[in-house]
Amino acid sequence: MTNSPVPAKDGPSSIAKTTRELPQPLFACSHCPACGFNNFPPSDVCPQCWSRNLQVKELSRTGVLYSFSSQLLEGEKHFVGYVDLPEGVRVFGRLTGNEPQQPSCGIPVRFSSVQPASGRPSFVFALPTGKQED
Ligand SMILES: [Zn+2]
Repeated sequence: MTNSPVPAKDGPSSIAKTTRELPQPLFACSHCPACGFNNFPPSDVCPQCWSRNLQVKELSRTGVLYSFSSQLLEGEKHFVGYVDLPEGVRVFGRLTGNEPQQPSCGIPVRFSSVQPASGRPSFVFALPTGKQED
């Protein structure tokens, strides 16, 4: 994995499309070299300085759980939440790995996968297991 910015596949006007419509969508933001702003979901225009010269930047695989909620899907309880990443972006996703225990705000979570869902990517983060990993 690299966190360094890379040019969009088909030029600066296709960043959103490039990251969204790959067979396996990228876990990435758009990065503006002019002002340094990272935007998620990736955009084709910088919302800070209106530059169209943006790059694709892969996001860090670990972040901090900002907020969460639970939902019932087909009778099973699932957690969803917002994760703050070091790039300064907040990503919504499903939380797995610790159910049915309650997550808590401020805990570290790890990016797990991105799944195409209804044409828009859906992100999954793993909650800490409480056991030593790696
Ligand atoms: Zn900018």
